[in-house]
Amino acid sequence: MTQSPIKVNGARLWQSLMDLAEVGATPLGGNCRLALTDEDKTGRDLVIGWFRDEGMSIRIDQIGNIFARREGRQADLAPVMCGSHIDTQPTGGRFDGNYGVLAGLEVIRTLNEQKITTEHPIDVAIWTNEEGSRFVPVMMGSGVFSNTLTLEEALSAQDKAGISVRDELKRIHYAGTEAVGGYDVKAYFEAHIEQGPVLDTENLPVGVVTGALGLYWYDVVVTGQECHAGPSPMSYRRDALKTSSQLINRILTIADSRQPDGRVTVGELDMHPNSRNVVPGRVKFSVDLRHSDKAELDKMHDEFAALLSEEKKEGIDIELKVVQKMPPTHFNESCINRVRDAVNSLALPHIEMISGAGHDAVYLSRTIPTAMIFVPCIGGISHNEIEDARPDELEAGAHVLLNAMLAEAGSVL
Ligand SMILES: [Zn+2]
Repeated sequence: MTQSPIKVNGARLWQSLMDLAEVGATPLGGNCRLALTDEDKTGRDLVIGWFRDEGMSIRIDQIGNIFARREGRQADLAPVMCGSHIDTQPTGGRFDGNYGVLAGLEVIRTLNEQKITTEHPIDVAIWTNEEGSRFVPVMMGSGVFSNTLTLEEALSAQDKAGISVRDELKRIHYAGTEAVGGYDVKAYFEAHIEQGPVLDTENLPVGVVTGALGLYWYDVVVTGQECHAGPSPMSYRRDALKTSSQLINRILTIADSRQPDGRVTVGELDMHPNSRNVVPGRVKFSVDLRHSDKAELDKMHDEFAALLSEEKKEGIDIELKVVQKMPPTHFNESCINRVRDAVNSLALPHIEMISGAGHDAVYLSRTIPTAMIFVPCIGGISHNEIEDARPDELEAGAHVLLNAMLAEAGSVL
């Protein structure tokens, strides 16, 4: 049965975003609500109040994830879920994460207003500590929910002051009693700002997200020998920086022939002894390779490893350490189709794209059929106080979320 799409109230969604942004507002118009701080608690309390106003019941699990439920016609069916996070970076924006949660709230408000009953219950989730700014690891709440992290690993994580997640959850009264996960979720949809430049540059309101890039992280240590910069003629040197810079130049071209999905970044560089008149004896740098296709990512790895052997020379040692390997994520085809159908029925200009950043949805997709919806952020700028988005595009993304979820949850007319 095809139904004509129903629509959210974009002005109401915008107002909720602005109201939540008052909590932990920063001087340049951004947000600072680090996970499990007083500001995070105030934000959680505020959004839970809005959920309750819509008649939703609230559950909180042992890692502090919040689930607001709107019952379906059949209470024992697996819920259709959406959500995101409301913690931010220290100089974070008003939309990253917050949009996914409040678009979920707007879905519920619209269903209530239009008196639409669904077969399956609908849950809106707020995941604990997605940002990983105060407590590492990132995507903590969704990581435990998807069995990627253990509850104990998460609870015992400490911030720089030595304060644990366990203690902070208790202090802000969000140490829930419910077990984390362990039940069926029919599907998970997450709406999020793109956090990159593509949609904004192409002037498209919506991106249908089909997966996330895989990433391989490495440390490379190049060891020569430090010596005095004056007395040592060039041919006598074992200069670790000379080898490193030649290497880095070549490594940084690995993704050039693999656009748009290949990425290579050298983000960290450490020199020893880092002194003006000493030839560097040791250089350590990081390499971050990403691609949407595992076979391509493996080829990038091979090319990278081959460059290291090619640049190896007498008196210079090159050591490679694999830090982390995360394969590419492919979202669930039937969930992606829900998003495609919604976008098409709303006649929204769009493209299909792969997320370059990590999101709760990436972890959740390991155990739950999942898809994501992207909306543009202005200039592609995110994790920045000046992060901004346009009300009409946020509204369009929420229309898509609503119709995708409604199709998945089954409406009773
Ligand atoms: Zn986010």
